[in-house]
Amino acid sequence: MNEVAIALSTILEKVERQEELQRDDLSTLLSLNEKTDIENLYQAAYAMKDRTVGTTVYFRGIIELSNVCEKDCYYCGIRKSNVHATRFQMTEEEIVHAAVWSYEQNYGSIVLQSGERRDPHFVDFIEGILTTIRERCDGELGITLSLGEQSYDTYKRWFDAGAHRYLLRIETSNPGLYKRLHPSDHSFEVRLECLDLLRKAGYQVGTGVMIGLPFQTIEQLADDILFFKRHDIDMIGMGPYIVHEETPLAQYASGNDNGQEQELSLELGLKMIAVTRLALRDVNIAATTALQALHAQGRELGLQAGANIIMPNVTDQKYRAAYQLYQNKPCIDENSSMCRACLGHRISGIGETIGYGKWGDSPHFFARTQL
Ligand code: SAH
Ligand code: SF4
Repeated sequence: MNEVAIALSTILEKVERQEELQRDDLSTLLSLNEKTDIENLYQAAYAMKDRTVGTTVYFRGIIELSNVCEKDCYYCGIRKSNVHATRFQMTEEEIVHAAVWSYEQNYGSIVLQSGERRDPHFVDFIEGILTTIRERCDGELGITLSLGEQSYDTYKRWFDAGAHRYLLRIETSNPGLYKRLHPSDHSFEVRLECLDLLRKAGYQVGTGVMIGLPFQTIEQLADDILFFKRHDIDMIGMGPYIVHEETPLAQYASGNDNGQEQELSLELGLKMIAVTRLALRDVNIAATTALQALHAQGRELGLQAGANIIMPNVTDQKYRAAYQLYQNKPCIDENSSMCRACLGHRISGIGETIGYGKWGDSPHFFARTQL
C-alpha cells in the first residue's frame, strides 16, 4: 500500500472505533485522488449510512415558488441585479396545487423555496399557504422551508403555521470567503444567528455549503464539516458550485463547462457527502440537483456516497426555466409526473427503496432533543 492508502485505512479504523475525525483527517479524505481510494471512501460512507439512517430514500418535493429576491449574492443567477432574469411569483393556488399533488403522490414532504423577501405581505402570504396546506393534507405532509434570512417572529409564525424544518445554507463557514462572495450589506454573522433563531423557534435545522467555489480550499471544506458538527446540524443540503454567466463570480470561476472540470467538481461534491456522513453519522444528507447538473446520474451517485434524501422538482414546468440559480439546471423541460417515474427507476436501479408517505426526519434531531 502507498502512503495515502495507509492514511485512508488508519482514518477508516478511527471511524470504526467511533473516534472523532480531526481537521487533518477530513482534509486527507477530501484530497483523495486515486480511483480505488475514492471508491473505498464511498463504500465506508455507504456502510455508515446503512448503519445510522438506513438505505431508504426520502423525498421532499421542491416547489420553487418565486425568483424575486432582495439579495445580490455574487454567485446566484436570480440575484436582484440580474436584469436578464424573467421574474415570476407562483399564486397561492398554484403552490397549494403542487403541495397537494406531492401529498397524493405519497412524497411525504415538500420544500418551499424562493428568493429572499422579508416584507409583511410575503410573510403573510407564506403563512396563509402553510395554513391551507395543513388543512388540505390533514397535517400529514412534512414541510421544509428554504426562504432565507428572516426575523425570529417570522420563523416562529411559519413554524406555528405548520412548517417543521428549515434549510439555510451558511454557503461557506469561512467568514473571509463569505465576504468575497457577497456584497458588503450581506452579513455572515446575521446568517449564523439565523441558524440559532431557527433552532429556538423549534425547527429541525438544515444548512450546507457550495463546493468548489473560486478561492475555496480543501481545508475550508474540512472546516465546513467541523462547523456542521459544532452547530449540531440535523440536515445537510450542499452541492457543487456551478457557474452562472450573468453573475459577478463567473469571471473568477475556471468553469465547469468542460468534461474534465465537471468530473472533478462532481467528485469533490461526492467526497464532501461521504466525508460528512463519516463525521456526522446520523444526519439527513440530500443528494442535490446540482450533482445532476454535472452528471446524468449525479443524484444516484450522491446516494451511493452516503446521501439519503432527494428533492424531486414539483414546480409547474412553465416556471422551471426562470428559476436558474446556476446554468444547465436539469429537468426544466419535464413535468412533475415524468420526474416521479424517472426517479423511481433510478432509485430501484441502485437497489434502494423509497420511503413513500413518510416524513423521514433526521434521527439526529430526535437524538439531540431527547437529551
Ligand atoms: N434565497 C434562499 C433560498 C434559495 S437559494 C437562500 O439563499 O437561502 C438556495 C441555494 O442555492 C443557496 O443557498 C445557494 O447555496 C445555492 N446556489 C445559488 N447559486 C448557486 C450556484 N451558482 N451554484 C450552486 N448553488 C447555488
Ligand atoms: Fe437570493 Fe438565495 Fe440567490 Fe442569494 S442565493 S441571490 S438570497 S436566491
